[in-house]
Amino acid sequence: MRRQFTIAVFEGDGIGPEIMAPTVALLRDLARDAGSFALDFRSVPAGAGHYRDTGESLPAASMEAARAADAILLSAMGLPAVRYPDGTEISPQIELRMQLGLFAGVRPVFVQPGQDVPLKSPRVTDIDFVIVRESTEGLFASHGKGVVEGDREARETLVITRAVSEKLFDFAFRLARRRKAAGRGKGLVHCVDKANVFQAFAFFRRIFRERAAAFPDIRADAAYVDATALAMVRNPWDLDVLVTENMFGDILSDLGAGLMGSLGLAPSADIGEHHAVFQPCHGSAPDIAGRGVANPMAMILSAAMMLDWLGDRHGNAEMVRLGEALHRAVADVLADGRVLTADLGGSAGTEAVAAAVATAVRIPAAA
Ligand code: ATP
Repeated sequence: MRRQFTIAVFEGDGIGPEIMAPTVALLRDLARDAGSFALDFRSVPAGAGHYRDTGESLPAASMEAARAADAILLSAMGLPAVRYPDGTEISPQIELRMQLGLFAGVRPVFVQPGQDVPLKSPRVTDIDFVIVRESTEGLFASHGKGVVEGDREARETLVITRAVSEKLFDFAFRLARRRKAAGRGKGLVHCVDKANVFQAFAFFRRIFRERAAAFPDIRADAAYVDATALAMVRNPWDLDVLVTENMFGDILSDLGAGLMGSLGLAPSADIGEHHAVFQPCHGSAPDIAGRGVANPMAMILSAAMMLDWLGDRHGNAEMVRLGEALHRAVADVLADGRVLTADLGGSAGTEAVAAAVATAVRIPAAA
């Protein structure tokens, strides 16, 4: 009996539809040949273009479809010229994160052979770690609530709650455990904070230590955020899972994307207890939209993360294997170096790269 999973698909703006179409086609092919599951894709409207045309950026029906789906695949949303009347950008992905309680922002950082990266060391291809950014509180809890008193001073408040922190740390430890079992991780979690200066971070670290006791097979360590920024440049190959507050995670994630050399390669996931959104780290790239030259790899790698998450959640080993196969196929196309988009120094188009990835997929036999 094949279990059917519903996937809500936000095609988004700019290059969004261009990278989403071949990714969904790839997933359809994989699911068609799968023995244990089927995928049902539901396209849902949202984004800056939708706001421009209808006055709504995330219609209630789209939010409902996202809530009802087993997983959400999102390309990129937002266009610089389309804004709300107060001048802020259209970013329904932030609303999804808040409304669906997606507390864990997962940003893998890895370097494959063939990737042109800024660090020059023979060890660069050993870089393989994950940043878990808390995504619903921290300093961002103050969003829209900051206070400016006259022209004299301004204040924002950082919030750390026990309930969210416990879920966050458990997520990070379980991730380290799965990475270790898959032979990809060192079984190590670092809590990244500023516990030497702020009470809130001392509290955060205390909860981390408490939760660590429940995962005796995983090493738990803590590091200050400034030292972590240095370590990410000096010895990133020693890192495994870094778990941190929202604002620190925001900054370190961009440093991580920088280490990978190209935005077109960086996938991400925003995960909660019941829902998850998978999307590339990059934006809608309006400067190259409509030309069929965008790199689809970050989108495809995000889809691979989705298969892995669904498989893990529903005890479906085939989905986990296919997620890994898709990840390896992207690595093989990169290492081969003949079919790459312009951001990676090649001259191939989006469709050609996606086709090369599809051809490179090797489905391993069940263990
Ligand atoms: P946002 O604020 O929405 O995150 P951004 O301002 O960071 O967006 P992006 O849209 O991510 O900007 O684009 C930054 C640069 O990277 C642009 O020059 C864009 O063309 C390039 N870029 C982003 N994604 C891709 C991609 N998938 N393939 C090729 N180039 C890309």
